[in-house]
Amino acid sequence: MSFRIWLSRPHMGGEERDLVGEVFDSNFVAPVGPMLNRFEEEFAAYLGEGVRCAAVSSGTAALHLALRLKGVERGSAVWTTSMTFAGGAFPLIYQGAEPTFFDLSSNSWTMDPDLLEEELEKAAKAGTLPKAVVPTDLYGQSVDLDRFEAACTRHGVALILDSAESAGAEYNGRKAGTGGDASILSFNGNKIITTSGGGMLVSRDHDLIDRAKFLATQAREPEPHYEHLTYGYNYRLSNVSAAIGVGQLHVLDARVARRREINARYRAALGTVDGITFMPEPNWSHSTCWLTAVAFDPERCGADREAIRLTLLEHEIEARPLWKPMHMQKLFEGTRYVGRGLDEQLFAQGLCLPSGSDMTDEEQDEVIGIIRDTLG
Ligand SMILES: *Cc1c(COP(=O)(O)O)cnc(C)c1O
Repeated sequence: MSFRIWLSRPHMGGEERDLVGEVFDSNFVAPVGPMLNRFEEEFAAYLGEGVRCAAVSSGTAALHLALRLKGVERGSAVWTTSMTFAGGAFPLIYQGAEPTFFDLSSNSWTMDPDLLEEELEKAAKAGTLPKAVVPTDLYGQSVDLDRFEAACTRHGVALILDSAESAGAEYNGRKAGTGGDASILSFNGNKIITTSGGGMLVSRDHDLIDRAKFLATQAREPEPHYEHLTYGYNYRLSNVSAAIGVGQLHVLDARVARRREINARYRAALGTVDGITFMPEPNWSHSTCWLTAVAFDPERCGADREAIRLTLLEHEIEARPLWKPMHMQKLFEGTRYVGRGLDEQLFAQGLCLPSGSDMTDEEQDEVIGIIRDTLG
C-alpha cells in the first residue's frame, strides 16, 4: 500500500548520506565499529543524567535484553500497559513472563499510576509483587515518571520504561530514556527518528549496559577460541545504521518541534468540535507528539472513527486506530487485566492522524478539510 500522505515516514536531516559514506571509506561495514560508539556516546550526552547507551537491532531486542538483565525469567510476573505495540509485549513471552495488563489514566492517556500504586500495595500484602513494571511512554508522551519511580522503589520492583515511541520527549525537563532502572528507544522507520531499523537500551547502571553489549554479541567471553558461559543474541546495531542514527540525532529536537507544531495545528482546527478529544498533555509532560491521537465520540460529532479513517483512505491518506489493547488480543486471552476500560473505549473511538515531520501545511489542511467534511 502506498499513500500520498503518510502517518509517519522517514525524514532525513541531510547529514546521513555523508556519514554513511564515512563508514564505507573506513570499511567498518560490520555490526560494531567507530560509528556505533559515536552514536552511543552522542546519544548518551544528549539524554544527560550520566546514562549510557547500547545500540541494538530493534526496540524489541532492547526490551528483551532489559527484561533478562533485570532478572525476568520463566514465571516472573511483569506488569505493563495494555494499550501498546506488540513489540513492547512480545519480549515478555520470549522470557516466559506472566503479564498483567494495565489501563491508562484519563489525564494523560499513559499507564495509570493510581492503579499501579493500589495493585502494588495489595501485592505487597499478599507477597505477590511483580518482578518488573514496564510502562509505555505512549505516542510521544512520558508516563508520570516520579510516581512510577517512587512506587517501584518503595516496593523494590524493577522499572523498565518502554520509551520506544518517545525519543526526545521530556518529563519535568528529564529526557525520556533517563528514568527507572533502564529504558528502551526505537529507531524503526515510522518512529520520530530512524536508523532504518534499530533500537537503544539506556541506563544509569553502567554495568547493565556493559552486560547488554556482551549478551547482544553472542555472549563471547574474552578468549580467542569463543568461550561461552551463558547464551546470548546477535542483537547489535550495524555500524552502517549507526551512521544514519548520528545524523538523525542531530535533527531530533527539530523533529520534536515540528511534530508539536502539527499537533497544535490539529488542535486549533478541530479542538473545539463537540465530541472530539485530543490526547491530553499534563503540565509535567513535554510530548514529542510522535502521532497526534484523537478520540471521536460518534454520538456527539456525527461520524465514527472508521468512517473518518476510510474517507481519508479513499484520498490515499494513512490514518490508523490507536493500538488494540493487549488484553483484547486473542493471543493474550485469559490474561489478567487491571482497569476500567478507558483503553477499550479509546481503541473503539481513537484515530492517529498523519503526523510526519515532512508533511506540508497544505497537506495537513487537506486532512483537516476531509475530517470536517466527514463530520458534516
Ligand atoms: C515500536 C515500538 C516497539 C518496538 O520497537 P522496534 O524497534 O520496532 O522493535 C516497542 N514498544 C513500543 C511501544 C513501540 O511503539
